[in-house]
Amino acid sequence: MDQTPDRARKRFPWLRTILIVLATLIVVLGLLIGLWSISRSRDYQLFGKLVNRVETDEKVVALTFDDGPTPEFTHQILAVLHEKDVPATFFLIGKEAETNIAEVRAIAAAGHEIGNHTYTHPDMTLADESKAAEEVEKTDAAIRAAGYQGDILFRPPFGKKLFGLPLYLAKHDRTTITWDVEPESYDDIATDPQKITAHVLEKTKPGSIIILHVMYDSREASREALPHVIDGLKQRGFRFVTVSDLMKLRKT
Ligand SMILES: [Zn+2]
Repeated sequence: MDQTPDRARKRFPWLRTILIVLATLIVVLGLLIGLWSISRSRDYQLFGKLVNRVETDEKVVALTFDDGPTPEFTHQILAVLHEKDVPATFFLIGKEAETNIAEVRAIAAAGHEIGNHTYTHPDMTLADESKAAEEVEKTDAAIRAAGYQGDILFRPPFGKKLFGLPLYLAKHDRTTITWDVEPESYDDIATDPQKITAHVLEKTKPGSIIILHVMYDSREASREALPHVIDGLKQRGFRFVTVSDLMKLRKT
């Protein structure tokens, strides 16, 4: 009979404790990694409804813009959308909507959808329900103060959420909107308008939600890509709709 384990226990009395501590650390680490992936998942959250795209046979797509509005670029983007005659959905930061109320009004007046992207754009991973309430409700108020009357969808900054935010949204029957086409998430693509356009044209499927950032100086490549993205998708037979309209086209 092999006596090695007994001998080992006698020679290393702390072995058992060390093994238990190691096993516990591995379990805790696994849990943390699991929670971390849930917090950044584009298509899953722990509570309530999340939409990152819609199952449909129709060639429809929703174009969404995050952040702002800024006086520098809102009108340029609205002009492109007007010229191409397509609607879009703007997820606005409450604080910037308050400061730039004329731009919020212009977005609404042009018939685009406006969504809530929190008041101060924090990482909401560890936010509790009261923090979520504050960020969401102050932003709703800013959007309403500009006269917008449509439903207000919600998109978390960086797409991040874990417990408090989804709980708050679920209790208030609000849907989290993420995306399934994100050209700017790749460093080598984000700075090149042609690569952005090519990525979007390659990845967009019926029911896709495209995310672009066009409101700040650093996003010249995205602004340059925008007309080409729209033209390219139109050539491929896609029709542009707001996120709310996209959700109505879901295959049942
Ligand atoms: Zn953002």
